[in-house]
Amino acid sequence: RSLELLLAPFDPERLGGVLVVIHDVTEQRKTEEMRREFVANVSHELRTPLTNIRSYAETLADNAGALPPDTEKNFLGVILNESDRMTHIVQDLLTLSRFDSGRTELKLAPFDFERAVRDVYNAILMEAQRHGHKVELELENGLPQVSGDRERILQVMMNVVSNAIKYTPDGGRIRISAGRLGARVWMEVADNGIGIPKEDRGRIFERFYRVDKARSRESGGTGLGLSIAKEIVDRHEGTLELVERPGPGLTVRLTLLVEGPRHGHA
Ligand code: ADP
Repeated sequence: RSLELLLAPFDPERLGGVLVVIHDVTEQRKTEEMRREFVANVSHELRTPLTNIRSYAETLADNAGALPPDTEKNFLGVILNESDRMTHIVQDLLTLSRFDSGRTELKLAPFDFERAVRDVYNAILMEAQRHGHKVELELENGLPQVSGDRERILQVMMNVVSNAIKYTPDGGRIRISAGRLGARVWMEVADNGIGIPKEDRGRIFERFYRVDKARSRESGGTGLGLSIAKEIVDRHEGTLELVERPGPGLTVRLTLLVEGPRHGHA
């Protein structure tokens, strides 16, 4: 822990001593450190696509009319992709900043949890099959209606399932299951993909944290998805966590209160 020693100003004429104030500044340092790291990350993440856009545009400009049409098309494609990527990052950052400043209101309403899980399954099935993944769906009977912001919960579920698809080599296996436990419903997404090394497991809900930056970037990842998902779930007084399972791959578990958050929004 870091301790800060402050020698308070004193008048030696009047006070015959020294006033020593000891502050524990560990937390403060950590917050500052995280903020600095965040800004550095944002700058880096935005600079990479910008550098690409700049160099491809420059090549196009320098060789105007002289490049084979295919090459030209290729370069323009990169420019479009990279600008989409920047838009994506900026959108995610705005979402996070709205959460941070408490400007995000949840639209709470009862919705069918089972329907939501099925909708996610149907939405990702094609993409999963394109990668040769086998997707299993296992639902307990009679899942209740839950109260929450359906669109946002769907976003969380989609994020977790898309990650399972992205981080599992083609031909993998993904199991989506859901059930009820007391006052909560749960959903688990298990894959048999590359998994996460033990030392990284505690960090994947952090902003910009990615185990393998190159791989994540290749698949259009920003490293912000799970931190946004976690914010959404926290505001629902739910939980989003990794489950320790033997064997390869990763299992992520989401739980929500059947009755919905008690305070509307945190
Ligand atoms: P990204 O946009 O990079 O996918 P996320 O916030 O969704 O960002 O995930 C953060 C990181 O967690 C990923 O970059 C990846 O390293 C790791 N991760 C997430 N889901 C899985 C998974 N199912 N298997 C292995 N690693 C995963």
